[in-house]
Amino acid sequence: MPFSTRFIDGLETGLPLGKILCVGRNYAEHAKELNNPVPASPLLFIKPSTSAVELEEPIERQFSHGDVHFETEIALLIGERMSQVSADEAMSGVVGVGLALDLTLRDVQSQLKEKGHPWERAKAFDGACPLSRFVQVEGGDVDWEAVTFHLDINGRRQQSGKTSDMLFTLPALLEEMTRTFTLEPGDVILTGTPSGVGQLPREAVLDLSLSLGLKVGTQTR
Ligand code: ZN
Repeated sequence: MPFSTRFIDGLETGLPLGKILCVGRNYAEHAKELNNPVPASPLLFIKPSTSAVELEEPIERQFSHGDVHFETEIALLIGERMSQVSADEAMSGVVGVGLALDLTLRDVQSQLKEKGHPWERAKAFDGACPLSRFVQVEGGDVDWEAVTFHLDINGRRQQSGKTSDMLFTLPALLEEMTRTFTLEPGDVILTGTPSGVGQLPREAVLDLSLSLGLKVGTQTR
């Protein structure tokens, strides 16, 4: 059955899953842990819709291809067609926020990198993108600088990220992406992983959490 994106109440979003547009090295600490230089412009790549699977389903690891790394990332669900948008208007096109694992065959990727080849065999394979359900949002109403997320493996904190640590902020990322790629309703954006990536252990329990910053103000008189 083809994958369909769902909101957290379990209802289908009604948006056909399109491409999954991803950014590499969007957190300085993660670039450092893999000995990669911090990029001057975002490093972009695409996972096909066939790489998506439900995050709640057990992960079928590709044991025969060397190391399989987990990368926990914020996923944005796009609700409208967007091309050449400015950072200011970009977030109004976002209708859902969720989490994803950008599963990466790290050994395969290292070999591809060495040869200067594209990364698809390491990152775009079937099952390479477990996607959570999405919290429905009106993109303009969220404090996008205050979103945080975690990954715990077997009860131990493994990754922690916050959008304020990103090298390219979410609005800047969407502006840059839509200069080259038209986004369509149902496309998903993966926004990079913080440090702490590692080998997916066998028979492990992964817990992911996401919190959208609630920012309220008041005055006295
Ligand atoms: Zn990634």
